[in-house]
Amino acid sequence: MAGNLKKYREKRNFRKTAEPKGGAVQTKKKSKFPIFVIQKHAARAMHYDFRLEVGGVLKSWAVPKGPSMNPKERRLAMETEDHPMEYASFEGIIPKGEYGGGTVLVWDEGQYGNLRELGDQGKSMEQSYREGKIEIYVVGHKISGAFALVRGNNDTRSNQWYLIKMRDDEANADLDPVKDHPDSVLTGRSLEEIAAAADNVWSSNR
Ligand code: MN
Repeated sequence: MAGNLKKYREKRNFRKTAEPKGGAVQTKKKSKFPIFVIQKHAARAMHYDFRLEVGGVLKSWAVPKGPSMNPKERRLAMETEDHPMEYASFEGIIPKGEYGGGTVLVWDEGQYGNLRELGDQGKSMEQSYREGKIEIYVVGHKISGAFALVRGNNDTRSNQWYLIKMRDDEANADLDPVKDHPDSVLTGRSLEEIAAAADNVWSSNR
């Protein structure tokens, strides 16, 4: 299953947004250590875009409340269109009126391993995705440990999934990384600082 960037490109005007257009999808390349990224996105409604490298693209889910470290909490994760790999380092402003207009910061990033490929299950990420049951081990700066992404019902067309912390040593109901670590993991900037910097660039270009 190769990723597909058609929807991503249809939704955007690349003369107006600074988001990357992305190149051709590299279907042959399989990363030994695939990446994950979580982007905090102050769009019409604040959310956290959870993205996993699968099949040469970033499979993406919008998580309104962001990840929880408490296995008893499941966080709604609405699947969105595949994003290009280049998107993983995108931080800045999407202009008002454009698709997803608002400020984006890289909230966390790192690598992940596919837990269902280990042992006797032997399930690839592509198979897991199709089955609506993904289990991964993420190593980030703000979140680490095993997480599951589970499709909300058996309808494979449903875009409603849940992001759930799996039980392990990293699980901790007392931790609240979304609240305690709000800023960019790349630049240390807050949403407000990123928005202000973009305004400055805009004014100096006029
Ligand atoms: Mn978003």
